[in-house]
Formats: sequence, C-alpha cells, structure tokens
Amino acid sequence: MKKHNFSAGPAILPQEVLQKAAEAVKELDGIGLSLIEISHRSKEFIAIMDEAQSLVLELLGLQNKGYRVLFLQGGASMQFLMVAQNLLENKAGYLNTGTWSTKALKEAKLFGEALEVASSKAENFNHIPKQYTLSPDLDYFHITTNNTIFGTQIKTLPETTIPLVADMSSDIFSKPFPYDQLALFYAGAQKNMGPAGTTLVVVKEDILGKVSRTIPSMLDYRVHIDKESMFNTPPVFAVYTSLLNLRWIKAQGGLTQIGKRNEEKAQLLYAEIDRNPCFVGFAAAEDRSWMNVTFNLKDPDQGAAFDALWTAAGISGLKGHRSVGGYRASIYNALSLDSIHTLIACMQDFEKQS
Ligand SMILES: *Cc1c(COP(=O)(O)O)cnc(C)c1O
Repeated sequence: MKKHNFSAGPAILPQEVLQKAAEAVKELDGIGLSLIEISHRSKEFIAIMDEAQSLVLELLGLQNKGYRVLFLQGGASMQFLMVAQNLLENKAGYLNTGTWSTKALKEAKLFGEALEVASSKAENFNHIPKQYTLSPDLDYFHITTNNTIFGTQIKTLPETTIPLVADMSSDIFSKPFPYDQLALFYAGAQKNMGPAGTTLVVVKEDILGKVSRTIPSMLDYRVHIDKESMFNTPPVFAVYTSLLNLRWIKAQGGLTQIGKRNEEKAQLLYAEIDRNPCFVGFAAAEDRSWMNVTFNLKDPDQGAAFDALWTAAGISGLKGHRSVGGYRASIYNALSLDSIHTLIACMQDFEKQS
C-alpha cells in the first residue's frame, strides 16, 4: 500500500510524475532509447532543458524580467558558497533563521565580510526576527524563506533596495510569491520540485559581474548562463523529473491553485494542533510554515503510543528533526488532502485514548 509520505526531503512527488519518470528511464517518448543513455546535447534533451527553463519562468511570473534559470548540481549547500563567491565584494547581510541559514553564513565568511543581521537562535529558531536594520552598503541580504527544520516561514519580504538573495529550497513553487523582488534565489530540487541531484538557481543577470575575484568556471553563474546549464553534463534524470513536476503544477492551475490547496492543508492541520489538548505547535503562530508543520506532544512520554497510531495508519516520515524533537509534518505540493485527514484522524484517536 502506498504510504502517506510526510517526509521533509527527499520528499513526495505526484504519482503520475513518478510513473512517467519511471517510463522515461526505460524509454523516452518512443525514441528507442532511455532518458539516461542519451547525449545531453541530443535534440531530445535540449528540448527538455529549454522547456524546464521556460516553465520555471512562466510559473513564477518572471518572463521577460531579466532572469536566467540554471539547473546546477551540488545541492542548495553548494549555493551557500556560490552566492558569496559570485556576489560578495564588500559586505553581505544574513538573516539567521535556522540550521540552513547558519550554514549559508558560515560559507559566506570564507569570501568576505558576512554579517549576521539578526538571529532567532536564542529561542531555538521558533520565529522569524523582524526588528532589524539593514546597512545600505550591503552587496546583498540573504534570507531563507522557509525553515524546513523549525517550521517557520517568511510571509512578507523585507522592504529594502538591497538585492535580496533567498534560499527557497522548501517552499519554491508552493504559492504565489513576489519572486520578482528577489535578485537571486535557489532551491535544492528534492523538497518541492523534483528528485535530489539538481539545484534550481534563478538569477537576475544584472547583479552578476560585480566582484573582482577570479571565480573557477564550475562555480561561476556567468559560465553556466552562457552555456545554458550545459557547461558540463547536467543531471538529466533530475532535470527531466523536475520538468514533469513543473508540468503537473501547471496542469493543477499554477501557483494560485497550488497555493490555495497548500493553505487549506496547513490550516486544517494547525487548527487540529491548536484544538487538540494533547499537542502544542512549535513555531510562533504568525510565522508558521505552510510546508513543514512542527509540533510536539504535551506529554512526551506518550510518544510510543502516538507513533504506533500513525504508523498503523500508513503514515511515514513524521518524526521531527533531532534539533526540535517531536513531530514534523511536511506537507509539500504533492501531499493530498486525504493524507492530512489521515493524520488528523490519528491525532483525534490519540486524544480519545489518552
Ligand atoms: C534541505 C535544505 C538545504 C540543503 O539542501 P541540499 O540540496 O541537501 O544541499 C538548504 N536549505 C534549505 C532551506 C533546505 O530545506
């Protein structure tokens, strides 16, 4: 039986995407060859790459606005250093909202002055800091829009003329968002876009070329832009499967429809956490994530009993990250309303038996 997959990442993808990806591994669109045994310079794969790039811009509402789309490798973690290497000349600011932004800041410091503008570390990252000022001489300000581990999410972008750079690994394509206010954003595919193995980078071309250091070719956005993400062999399976998922998002009605469904899912689950006397939410209410819902048992000693209930209901991947404990329901695009109702039923059964 197919499980209810609440994994934080690599995460759930739509069944039809998995089906088509599996078929393409055997044979791509009747060409007598597998997707993973053709040249990335074949007309078939170039068409896949072109469509993936243009669909990204279309879904995000970024057509004809000076953005370029890259499918790179090395995960979001590679972007922690590439961002700084390509953009940091004098000084950069970082909003520290969790484990991933802490890592991004650490890498940036290798390339120059990287400042922690604000941090919620003292409260175990249970909220997004909002009281801070940005010095006007920053090359860029880096934020993490959704904190996958702690379950917080930035709901409104800071108002600033400083170029904004965002790690959007776990909430890209999850709802309409002012993407055009970002100078660069990136996402490891495996949370809400596709399988692990590729990283989406969307960059406004005019922010590049402003640093004086020499950048190795493989780490240089300019090189990858000029080579259309084919400077070296791209991760063909990850790009193709991401394309299938982007097509699925479009067929659902794009980000407006996807966003409505994600909001409904999140609100149902948070309403149950708030209503049910056995549970307590982790994140500050106004910063609650629509993608990763973190919560704890009021009585942690009852963990085994609750775990037995949801495991028997076919739920997988609900355990919280070790730095938060408790539970984390990752409710990405492909997770159905039915899976949400299944989890809520487990929480209600647990309430009845305790
Ligand atoms: C998972 C995650 C990362 C790390 O991604 P990798 O692709 O494994 O390097 C970075 N940032 C956020 C917000 C994440 O959720």
